[in-house]
Amino acid sequence: MEEIVKNKWDEILSYLKNEYAITDVSYDSWIKPLELFQIEDNKLYLTYSGDQNTMTLGYVTRKYATPLKVTIAEITGIQFDEILVISQENANQINKEKNAGLINIEETTSYGERKIGNSTINPKFTFDNFVVGRNNRFAQTAALAVAESPGEFYNPLYIYGGPGLGKTHLMQAIGNYIENQNPNTHILYVTSEEFTNEVIENMRTNNNATAMQRFRDKYRTVDVLMVDDIQFIIGKEATQEEFFHTFNALHAMGKQIVISSDKPPKDMETLDDRFKSRFDMGLMADIGYPDYETRMAILSKKIEEKNFNLDESIRKYIAENIQSNIREIEGALNKLIAFSRLEKIDITMEIAERELQNFISPNISREITPQLIIEVVSEHFNITVDQMASKNRSSSVVRPRQIAMYLCNTMTDSSLQAIGLLLGGRDHSTIIHGANKIEEEIDKDENTKNLVETIKKKINPN
Ligand code: ADP
Ligand code: MG
Repeated sequence: MEEIVKNKWDEILSYLKNEYAITDVSYDSWIKPLELFQIEDNKLYLTYSGDQNTMTLGYVTRKYATPLKVTIAEITGIQFDEILVISQENANQINKEKNAGLINIEETTSYGERKIGNSTINPKFTFDNFVVGRNNRFAQTAALAVAESPGEFYNPLYIYGGPGLGKTHLMQAIGNYIENQNPNTHILYVTSEEFTNEVIENMRTNNNATAMQRFRDKYRTVDVLMVDDIQFIIGKEATQEEFFHTFNALHAMGKQIVISSDKPPKDMETLDDRFKSRFDMGLMADIGYPDYETRMAILSKKIEEKNFNLDESIRKYIAENIQSNIREIEGALNKLIAFSRLEKIDITMEIAERELQNFISPNISREITPQLIIEVVSEHFNITVDQMASKNRSSSVVRPRQIAMYLCNTMTDSSLQAIGLLLGGRDHSTIIHGANKIEEEIDKDENTKNLVETIKKKINPN
């Protein structure tokens, strides 16, 4: 029997892939690493040879055992009672004990620690362009599992880690994946500050039942809700309360919730205990600091994406010196690309060292410059630095531009002229006008105040 299955293994897997429309990334992650281990008591035992963490085996078994069973039956005519995926370690252990003459395989098949229990999605962030390293493997696996089976196994998924380590990328990848697989799924991705603003907006239209209803309709009719950077909600009473109800309503309906934060719930001092217990129902996945190899791999990926050429020695220089934030690695790269294209020259080590001083000065805390502010603001609004400096007058660009004017003016000592130059050669009166406009708004509008505070924290997290 073992022979039959073994001989047809490749055929079984490719049939499975087609029949169940398994995507390449899922196939490579979960299916391809499966190997036949043994058959006993009409149970088929498989080992998983891929990179593995505490959730992999349990997930693969729960998600794919049945499809595999059906496929094997169709191709070989053999009906197994059960299909189990065990770790390579357990398999080795079993072999050892078998040779020693004593074994009961069932006892060793534990899955390890098992925790069951208006922005838009940016197509730029996918699983395909997310580099997996030791620091993010667990989070990536968890995110992929959720993307494949929204609402089924890990709900909520709570991703946490320091700034610039890939939380938003992973959330967006989940969104893109689901959207591709099933375009009818209603996915809502919001930053927590957008959520906050909507709650405040509602309170302002005081007791306006229609507005409240609209808000609830919007949030409670989605299939997947993703709230990014939830740490900004914490401590804001009304918002927290509203989120709590939204969470409960969706969770009760089996809708998938994905949350990101800079800390695990237990370290969020002002987080209501009610939340802690809710979040515990799902899966926590942290993203740590990338090691050197991972930083190099990510940098190379970005270089390739941007069609750029950069000497190995300079890549090493960047990856060695920028250690704790991928966003900064990308910022450094963007700076070199901009320089190279503007000056029409290749980047030498000398140029890199000079241009990247701001990124690579380990002992000096990062200087807040107008460039930095403009970069952070554009990233926040998902527009490019070029658009910020362009003549574009649409409100989706004008407002971020004015916010950048205000922040450059209040957070740095740069002259109005210098700020104007960076923002596409605008004159000083334009900068004053923009900055004043935002300042007035902050005074009278809670939304703007919140927004600007959030961006300030992004610019200067300390
Ligand atoms: P966070 O939300 O944790 O602050 P982001 O998801 O915004 O961080 O990531 C910052 C930048 O770094 C993004 O451009 C993202 O594409 C990139 N990045 C982070 N981790 C990876 C990774 N593992 N592979 C590819 N790019 C990554
Ligand atoms: Mg983020």
